[in-house]
Amino acid sequence: MSTETAHAADTLPPLFAELAAWAGNDGSPQLRVLDSVAQFTHHRDIDALDHSLTLSLAELADADVVTLYKRDGERGARSDPDERLVRCARAANGRYGVTSLPQAADTASEALLRQGERDGGCVRLRDGNHGMLVPIRREGRVIGALMLEGEHPMQHLRPLVEGFARIYANYIALLDESERDKLTSLYNRRTFERHMQQRPHVSTGRPDPRGLPARRWLAILDIDHFKRINDSWGHLYGDEVILVIAQQMRASFRQGDGLFRFGGEEFLVLLEAADESSAGTALERFRQRVQDHVFPQVGQVTVSVGYAAVGEQDYPATVLDRADKALYFAKNHGRNRVCNYETLRAQGALEEGMAPGSVDLF
Ligand code: GH3
Ligand code: MG
Ligand code: MG
Repeated sequence: MSTETAHAADTLPPLFAELAAWAGNDGSPQLRVLDSVAQFTHHRDIDALDHSLTLSLAELADADVVTLYKRDGERGARSDPDERLVRCARAANGRYGVTSLPQAADTASEALLRQGERDGGCVRLRDGNHGMLVPIRREGRVIGALMLEGEHPMQHLRPLVEGFARIYANYIALLDESERDKLTSLYNRRTFERHMQQRPHVSTGRPDPRGLPARRWLAILDIDHFKRINDSWGHLYGDEVILVIAQQMRASFRQGDGLFRFGGEEFLVLLEAADESSAGTALERFRQRVQDHVFPQVGQVTVSVGYAAVGEQDYPATVLDRADKALYFAKNHGRNRVCNYETLRAQGALEEGMAPGSVDLF
């Protein structure tokens, strides 16, 4: 080392000197932590982020199990069947595996979670193992928790896990913002294809009373004569109508159904229902709800709805086009109604007079 650099190192403030020392050491634990953070924040998809977070923490803490409990904040305080968990567990061969489960399926860990919240985050597990629970907060609200389990006490790892929880919460907020429409907070158009392609990992729908397996349906909702609303009352009132419609969608559809603002006054619902008539009933309930609502100043507003079945092999654009044809039919037959593509097709009602779709495809 030349006299010049030796002199420079001597005069570094202590924090920088320490940083310089471990930056030069490839195997340092600090570098492993940095590397883990870089790895899990590399993902742009929330599911991938969740998996990567639990795996990174399990490896760093040498834990047997790391569980990420998630509370979906979208619907506010309502009791939330969309809570779910992602778990990374060490298998007998020593390798980690990550799985995603509906939280309701894991009542034992739910009880632990409560115990952890009561006892300040440290829990002794029934099998003698140690557990540590760290809440994940966003703007003061608990949006989830991280639970680490292992053979040894883990209290000394608390600052590390809390740091991960904070980075995760910040990053989730960013991803969430980029996926949602600013006015309504519904999912935006950009995310639609991804939602279509992934089977919902949690089936949140209540079981069908007849025991039929749920299928997916795609509905397009379009406000009737929206131009008139804008022209008569101005865009601000128009925007208010859009906002109320989004609230009505949240109140009408089930927790696991995907709700999107697709364009100005067009919305999509990706819903699970056993058959065409159950899907139709849910959509009809929504249509009626909008019709019955008295909108401030504007009075009555109605919506037209077209929907189609989502086949396993169907491209998103194909299903969208079918739902749009049904919507176009509804618009041409009095508006304020719900039409199903498959039914109209079986009736031969779509054969004539089909104009190009009213929804802009990709
Ligand atoms: P239809 O019953 O056939 O759907 O009639 P419509 O008047 O609703 O016709 P259309 O769906 O073609 O018109 C949509 C209008 O919505 C056009 C545009 O001026 C207005 N619009 C689109 N986005 C917004 C928005 O974000 N805010 C407001 N206030 N208006 C919007
Ligand atoms: Mg429209
Ligand atoms: Mg319209």
